[in-house]
This record gives sequence, structure tokens and C-alpha cells, in this order.
Amino acid sequence: MITAAVLKGPSEDLVVHDDIEIDAPGPGEVKVKMVASGVCHSDLSVQNGTIPLPTPIVLGHEGAGIVDEVGDGVTGVAPGDHVVLSFVPACGSCYYCDRGQSYLCEKGAMQVAGGLLDGTTRLTLGGEPLRQMAMCGTFGNYAIVPEISLVKIDDDVDLRFAALIGCGVLTGVGAALNTASIRKGDTVAVVGCGGVGLNVIQGARIAGAEKIIAIDMFESKLQMAKDFGATDLVKADDGDPVANVVGLSGGRGADVAFEVIGLGPTIEQTINMTRNGGEAILVGVPRMDVMLNLNAAFTFLYLAKTVKGCWYGSSNVRDDVPKLIQLYKDGQLKLEELVSREIGVEGVNEAFTAMQQGEVARSLITHTH
Ligand SMILES: [Zn+2]
Ligand SMILES: [Zn+2]
Repeated sequence: MITAAVLKGPSEDLVVHDDIEIDAPGPGEVKVKMVASGVCHSDLSVQNGTIPLPTPIVLGHEGAGIVDEVGDGVTGVAPGDHVVLSFVPACGSCYYCDRGQSYLCEKGAMQVAGGLLDGTTRLTLGGEPLRQMAMCGTFGNYAIVPEISLVKIDDDVDLRFAALIGCGVLTGVGAALNTASIRKGDTVAVVGCGGVGLNVIQGARIAGAEKIIAIDMFESKLQMAKDFGATDLVKADDGDPVANVVGLSGGRGADVAFEVIGLGPTIEQTINMTRNGGEAILVGVPRMDVMLNLNAAFTFLYLAKTVKGCWYGSSNVRDDVPKLIQLYKDGQLKLEELVSREIGVEGVNEAFTAMQQGEVARSLITHTH
């Protein structure tokens, strides 16, 4: 029996169950004793229906733990290994993995059904199959995941902080280091300073940006943005944010601007605050029905702007997770500072509320066993 926070239906509070049955790992699968899980905005987005997934489901897709048991044919990890979960599996051999785009791995397609690679689940609650978000389900104290969803890391990294790499850090820092082409001395704008936005900011700092303009509605988030490397702060509801960013960047606009919210109006603002010939990087997760209203001639032709979508920080997890851990060990990447509160799994609904109120960077669940 394992303990996990379960979403039973759209917009319901999560319910913690300690009577979830777990099977043995199947071929190519690994049972992971979860140590910690971040509470990400995308978990909330599944709960409120922005990201539609079938229920009942164990949420959580940003976590780290220790390998407990391996199924047949698993060769990459062994019991006792420390691992970070990747919410997109990386098979290493499909069309996309072969081209260095493992964030688009074809094996990720099964995610939408909530099962593992073969479409079935290893968890059962009250006789009913229980799904796992993104083949992870890190709000459980154990999870069975495909081997290709795991990245082995050194034992000397605190798994509580390593957990954060799995989504927010790979996505945010990856957006700056992989998706965007930031040059030394660039002016960068970041719209939305939640957990992922803060990571975009520290990624931009690592990439050598000179001026980093943070834009958010919440004063509390702007202050955190400063701690992560923002040099200029723009309160989104204090005048026109586009005009404010253009004013702060020599009247031209930002060399690179990131949208890390996922709303139509803020995406349009982000593209409009990008300088001629600059890059707008879309990181936030919009609702499925969001459309954009852009002037095609000016945006793309006369002003020669590039708009790039960023899924999972354009990361190749097997290369990027070790790189990020090295940056952390070198003191360049902040992980501890991303955690605003540590909670037990029963605190997850409160963490959702806090996130909606703009209070926190990351709530971190530490599991008990
Ligand atoms: Zn996430
Ligand atoms: Zn692949």
C-alpha cells in the first residue's frame, strides 16, 4: 500500500489516500521511493481543467527519489540509485531523440491517457485503476515509472532540491539556455515570475544577460525575481508593461522576451515588447482555446521577430540534468532558494491556494514512508 494525493474529478480538492495498491514494476519499469515533489502550476492546471487529463489520477510530475525495485530488462538503474523523474520520457532512439530533441520523444504520447507506456496503470484505488500524471505521479510516496523517464544523478545531491529540477528548473533554465539564443550583454524580459519564471531569470543570468526585466502583478514575486538575478522590476498593473519594458531597453524592446504565464493578452504583450529582430519565447501553458491576435506583416516580416514555443525547456534530460546539477554545485544555480515552504502531502490543497494567491515560488512535498 502506498500513500498519494489523488484528483478524483475536475475542480475537486485532492484527497490523500493511504490504501492505494501498487503492483510490481513490469518490464522496463522501475519502482521509485519518492523523496520529494514540487507542487507546480501544471498540477493546479490539471486540477482546474486547463490541462485535461482523465481521473482518478495521482498528480505531481516534478520529483526525485531512490530506486526501490526494477522490472525485467532494466539496465540503466539499480536499487539504491538516486533519480530525478523526467515528465517527458526520453527513449533515446525515436525520430526526435535521434535529433537531439528528446523533449518531444515519441514515447511521451501515452501521457494524455494517464497510464504508463502500454496504456495500463500499476496503481489501484478501491478496485479502480489509478492513473499517474505524466507517467510520474510524484504526489505519491512510491511510483512505478518507465525506466526511460528516469535520470540517474550523483548520491551527494539533496534529493529534496534535486526534485525541483524535474520540471521548473529544466523548463525555466532550459528556456533561457536551450530555446533562446541569449547573447552576453542582452536585455531580457520575463513576464510572470512564479516558479518557472524565476528559473528563466536565473537561466538568463547564467547565459550572460546584462539587464533582466521582471514583470509580474505581485510585489512579492518581483522581490524574489530580484534575488534570482532580475535587475529591473515592472509591476504589471502599474501603467502599460509593454511601454515600460520598451522604455527600459533603449526604446527598442527586449532582445529576448519570455512569457511564463500562458494567457493570450500576456503572450501578445511579450511579443510586442520584443525588439525588431528579437526573440519571444513562449513558456507558459495556455488553455486549449487560447488564440492570438497579431499583425502578421509587422510581427514576422517588417519587424522580423521570431516567436518560439518552448516545451520542457527544449531539454535533453540525460545531458541537461547533469549540467544543471553541476551549475548547482558551482553555486551558479539556486535550488534551495526556490522553496518557500516544505509540506507533507496532506498540505497540497493549501499549496494550490497559496500558488493562486501568488505567495510562493515552490511548495515542496517531502514524503514519509
Ligand atoms: Zn511542472
Ligand atoms: Zn524518444
